Amino acid sequence: PQPDPQLGAAVKAADRAHVFHSWSAQELIDPLPVAGAEGSYFWDFEGNRYLDFTSGLVFTNIGYQHPKVVAAIQEQAGKLATFAPAFAIEARSEAARLIAERTPGDLDKIFFTNGGADAVEHAVRMARVHTGRPKILSAYRSYHGGTATAINVTGDPRRWASDTGTAGVTHFWAPFLYRSPFHSDSEAQECARALQHLEDTIVFEGASTVAAIVLETIPGTAGIMVPPPGYLAGVREICDRYGIVFVLDEVMAGFGRTGAWFAADHFDVVPDLLTFAKGVNSGYVPLGGVAISGAVAETFAKKPYPGGLTYSGHPLACGAAVATINAMEEEGMIEHTARIGADVIGPALHEMAARHPSVGEVRGLGAFWALELVRDRETREPLVPYNASGAAAAPMGAFAAAAKKNGVWPFVNMNRTHVVPACNISEAEAKEGLAALDDALTTADEHTV
Ligand code: PLP
Repeated sequence: PQPDPQLGAAVKAADRAHVFHSWSAQELIDPLPVAGAEGSYFWDFEGNRYLDFTSGLVFTNIGYQHPKVVAAIQEQAGKLATFAPAFAIEARSEAARLIAERTPGDLDKIFFTNGGADAVEHAVRMARVHTGRPKILSAYRSYHGGTATAINVTGDPRRWASDTGTAGVTHFWAPFLYRSPFHSDSEAQECARALQHLEDTIVFEGASTVAAIVLETIPGTAGIMVPPPGYLAGVREICDRYGIVFVLDEVMAGFGRTGAWFAADHFDVVPDLLTFAKGVNSGYVPLGGVAISGAVAETFAKKPYPGGLTYSGHPLACGAAVATINAMEEEGMIEHTARIGADVIGPALHEMAARHPSVGEVRGLGAFWALELVRDRETREPLVPYNASGAAAAPMGAFAAAAKKNGVWPFVNMNRTHVVPACNISEAEAKEGLAALDDALTTADEHTV
């Protein structure tokens, strides 16, 4: 497309005058006006094109403007653009069937929400009503959404400003060997100690007061920490022993991101509730939901579920989910993602880590990778301090600017960059982006000791 700086300037001016942005000091941000996007790329009004290594906020699992999904949304809009939630609607029924057929175990009933945070809100409510218990346990180094309960369940600094008012959430440490809260020196030790710590937390909180344990199967924004073998199975066993509902949040890790339909598939674990959003329809229309086990569904078989949404199972969003899931299936995206992670992205990142002193650890699988950037590999001191902003965060800002100059839009969170492209990114595109990151890492290397 032809550059159109004038239109870009008008888009930016109206944004700066009227759009109030998430998580931001409104006068300190400088949003890039975006003219369009296709596949793994987006472009501005000046003629600059970027390879998107963020998938938006890790949601465009099938890339931008997938023709089958765009066509399905157009078709659904022509057929039935909207309808109230209490009716049986073709797009909604079909989306629920396709999702239920792919979720693990007996997670066979689907409650649709508008996104991830409200999926977590409803999972928590279902667990509290199901158990008759008040408390929720969740992990530090997690993100579960921006609404009242979901932000309290979150275990990162975004929670702090909203930590007033909502009682009933206790945080615990989940395993993370590179920065082990338990000073472990092996995965097996980290797993055993993390499980013991979780059980101690339950006992001291009072097991009979704990409704649910909420965990991201593989924590996403907090750093893509793949749990050690046995951890999630251990949590499942603890939940069973104490009658606690096990909630896995797959809002980010689900729908192909890890090279499986759900990250839980890698660990052979079945939660009682599984939350999803983002990749379910690649965010083309807002949609999220909770997949519900037989036992929890039974609680609400004869007694009403005390919750709902005007747009629960919105036809446009569900039509987009049906088309997305079918496209992923038809185009072999799950297998592609597993392969590109194992054969292309992972090896390239490990090879880069060997050359760049700023890379402390490489973690991930599929299209879900984190580079932990450090000032000092020996001490593992992060490249920028935890939750740094302004001048203290400048080294990460400089890294991001270098990546953008090289034509890649990087995902940056604290001292990490995540490599989270579209799951159907081609091998050539992945290599192009990795080369650009490789070059940008020299900027980070300058800040090492
Ligand atoms: N849960 C997880 C694991 C997430 O990564 C996110 C968003 O990043 C959410 C919940 C919240 O989803 P949403 O922003 O759609 O409300």
